[in-house]
Parts: sequence; structure tokens; C-alpha cells
Amino acid sequence: MPRVGNVHGVKISVEPLFHPDIEAIEVDQEVRFSGDLATRYPEGVHVKATITPIAHGVHMQGTLAGTEAETCVRCLEPFARGAKIEIAETFSEDVGRDEDLYADVAPLVDRTIDLSDLISQLLEVDEPMAAVCSAACRGICPICGANRNVVSCGCEAHTVDARLAGLARLRDELQARDANGR
Ligand SMILES: [Zn+2]
Ligand SMILES: [Zn+2]
Repeated sequence: MPRVGNVHGVKISVEPLFHPDIEAIEVDQEVRFSGDLATRYPEGVHVKATITPIAHGVHMQGTLAGTEAETCVRCLEPFARGAKIEIAETFSEDVGRDEDLYADVAPLVDRTIDLSDLISQLLEVDEPMAAVCSAACRGICPICGANRNVVSCGCEAHTVDARLAGLARLRDELQARDANGR
């Protein structure tokens, strides 16, 4: 089965797949970013995928892997989050350029796939709402600000349970009323 080897650059021409003797394009490459994505993925990402022809388009199947520089929402410390995302995208010449939003099938324009567009979309969807360095992360102490993964500040020992505090207030009020001779 004839295949086209490593593709260089972030735009991939799938033109060869429109010729009957080419059955697949293999993509196996590192992609580096600029701007915001470069801060989040300083090492870039690795794309490994196979692009095959379908009627009036192509299908891309594979994985996107990288290491994201995250900040834990609990302890506020930086940590590395491994991201591995499945790529399963269909591009069709039957889909108009302005129909791509929310559609299952993306438009295939100029028989070219813009890998950087695809990657940034996939990374955006993969981004966790609240990244945590570990499920067991104990976070920052709300009283003294210490990182509780590193030190045990002992602040909890001095905090009174809210319900008990309510009862103690009620008791004090009753005693004050008694003292006023009622
Ligand atoms: Zn943490
Ligand atoms: Zn503390």
C-alpha cells in the first residue's frame, strides 16, 4: 500500500489522496507553538495520525500527545499535566467554509488540512476547568496560607465547628438574659 511519509509544515496537503494509487498519508510529527499555546505546551505536541480518503473528502484518525504546564487550583503550585487526545476528524469538500462551526464534518478547503487549527481546537476542548496536581492535593490553608502538602500548620486544631459555635452563642445569650434578672 503506497503511503506518503512524514509531512513537514503545519499545513498538510491531502491532494495525493484524490489520486487512486495513494491510500493513506501518515502524519508523525512534533508541532511547536507560539503565543499562549507555547506557554502552556513549552515542548509542543506530537501528532501521530493516518489520513485516508472518503467520498469527497478525507478522514484523519490518530492521537495528539503533549505535556501541559499547569497551575494547581488548590495549592497554586505549577505541575506538568500529560495530555493525550484522540483525533477522529472528517473533512469534506461538500461542507461550506461557514458551516464548520459545531458540525461533525469540517470543510476541506483547497485539499489542505490546517494542523495548527485542528490542534488548537482539540487542546481547547481538552483543557480542564480546574486542574489539580493530584486528587490527594491538600491545598492552601485558608487561615495561614501554608501549602498543606508541604507543611502541617496545625490551624484546623484551633477552628471551632460552625454548629458548635452557634450553640455556644445561644448559651451565652441565655446566660446574659438570666444575669439581667429575667
Ligand atoms: Zn495541588
Ligand atoms: Zn494554617
